[in-house]
Amino acid sequence: MAKIVVEQIPVLSDNYVTLLHEAGSGATAVVDPAVPEPVIERLDAKGWRLTHILNTHHHGDHTGGNLELVRRTGCAVVGAARDAGRIPGITVEVGEGDTFMLGAAAAVVLEVPGHTSGHIAFWFPDSHAVFCGDALFSLGCGRLFEGSPEEMWSSLKKLRELPPTTLVYCGHEYTAGNGRFARLVERDNPALHARLEQVERLRAANRPTVPTTIAEERAANPFLRADTAAVAKAVGMEPGTDPVRVFAELRRRKDAF
Ligand SMILES: [Zn+2]
Repeated sequence: MAKIVVEQIPVLSDNYVTLLHEAGSGATAVVDPAVPEPVIERLDAKGWRLTHILNTHHHGDHTGGNLELVRRTGCAVVGAARDAGRIPGITVEVGEGDTFMLGAAAAVVLEVPGHTSGHIAFWFPDSHAVFCGDALFSLGCGRLFEGSPEEMWSSLKKLRELPPTTLVYCGHEYTAGNGRFARLVERDNPALHARLEQVERLRAANRPTVPTTIAEERAANPFLRADTAAVAKAVGMEPGTDPVRVFAELRRRKDAF
């Protein structure tokens, strides 16, 4: 039942790199290091030694710091077996349902393809936290670069089924922009309005809107609500329409937004 301490590092224009520390063993991971320097600086400030890199997917703004961090710390690199050829420096290949131990803290690997074909998420049940890269965002989801709407919808449903209190650490600060689109989809959703007000306050104070929670996203994120009558109607479809079709139309409209 070991828990992790989480440190969020904003880098580039809108990426979040995250440090995870398991105090009992001293094991420390970084999730999706876009760049190495801010990671080294934060590790030094905390007095932590990097033991693992966890990559959710291969994009450069999630793996750009891998090789330099390996060179400087000798840490292991954990990534999707399906994507081993595209994860720089990978040493530990994982897939759906695998358990990865960060010291005494267990993480379950979830395959969540759609944004990329090898996209995975790391779920730490005892810490009530999931690190989901560019699969799920607050009030949005990743673009479908390599997957079908069907794949992405089933990935989002998998994330939606996590316990409602789960903290969702996504890879980007996109919430305000996503919210402008979400508001057009579900004008009358009180949970969305509450979230938008909160996001406005946080951003005005230059604070992150991440993490969010599964409960909050289930209530307010239109991409997790493609099987509701309200969202089907919003994209001009009959309630009861196949949610994959509703999701595909939502994603198409967001891409053009
Ligand atoms: Zn990406």
